[in-house]
Amino acid sequence: MCRRPSSLPDQESDNTLETTLTIITSGGRRIPAHAKILAAASEVLENMIDESFRKNRNSENTIRILGVPCGAVEVFVRFIYCNRCTEEEIEEFGIHLLALSHVYSLPQLKTRCTKGLIERLTIENVVDVLQLARLCDAPDLYLKCMKLIANRFKSVEHTEGWKFLQNNDPFLELEILKFIDEIELRRKSTRKHLQEQSLYFQLSEAMDCLQHICTEGCTSVGPYDKKPSKKIAPCSKYSTCEGLQHSIRHFASCKKRVGGGCVRCKRMWQLFKLHSCICELPDSTCKVPLCRRFKTKEQLVKNKKEEARWEQLVTKVVAAKAISSLPLPKRKFEQEQQPRSLVHKTMNHYVSVAC
Ligand SMILES: [Zn+2]
Ligand SMILES: [Zn+2]
Ligand SMILES: [Zn+2]
Repeated sequence: MCRRPSSLPDQESDNTLETTLTIITSGGRRIPAHAKILAAASEVLENMIDESFRKNRNSENTIRILGVPCGAVEVFVRFIYCNRCTEEEIEEFGIHLLALSHVYSLPQLKTRCTKGLIERLTIENVVDVLQLARLCDAPDLYLKCMKLIANRFKSVEHTEGWKFLQNNDPFLELEILKFIDEIELRRKSTRKHLQEQSLYFQLSEAMDCLQHICTEGCTSVGPYDKKPSKKIAPCSKYSTCEGLQHSIRHFASCKKRVGGGCVRCKRMWQLFKLHSCICELPDSTCKVPLCRRFKTKEQLVKNKKEEARWEQLVTKVVAAKAISSLPLPKRKFEQEQQPRSLVHKTMNHYVSVAC
């Protein structure tokens, strides 16, 4: 509820803070107000009022609020009395009110202006509002402006505000360009992380398929110790499984093999090797080719650096396997689509073929 009284109190009151004073604006408007209420709202105003009372003991007490439109001062004073202002007032005087809230230390008004100005940010006004946010120490507004500029920089750089800033505030221009660079770097790093996660999930799926092909059999390849039975229907991960079956069949019949420099065989060899690293079955029960050989001969790696890379790969694939077994909604990193061949490229990144 507004505290503004319908009639002004007696100017000659003994208590100076009970008396009225007049606020004078740049346009010469005179706004009456209660000293006590202004002083209670703002220490800055309190000091101004004290100063005015000291100087004008027997004449009219005035303080000046200059540099903004008269209407903005009226809204400012009304906010002190009522603790609110309308959307229309923010629309018309938002930037002036923000400046007043900063100069006269009115945090509630600053919060209100910040919210209102954020809602009204446009390509055209964002550079001006950014400069004001910086001057008025409004970090939320400053950040919103920076993000809008970074996201729409191609449009913002054609505005009058940007051209003015370039000519008058090279320091802020540099600050903005640095911010844009940092955002771009962060985006790149997130994208890279998501792509890597997606590859680990594909490798984890390939490991599941390998186990499934060598244990149960799928459409064209089955376990070595079982006679090919009647045609099996495609499994639920058939897009991965089918490619793997082709590679296994190639691996079994290739004349060049790994030692002869066949790239396809080398990749299959790596997948067998990865399987043996994450395989938890006893040697005698695992039906995946080469599993026991890799486990016993420990011929996985040739040097320390390569060993560290393998360990990293195995850890990530095991983690991806654990996550994919959880009943979670569609994971973000799975939505980053990767061509299947990248699985092999990743393998090549982690290992040089040890065979
Ligand atoms: Zn299958
Ligand atoms: Zn081959
Ligand atoms: Zn195994």
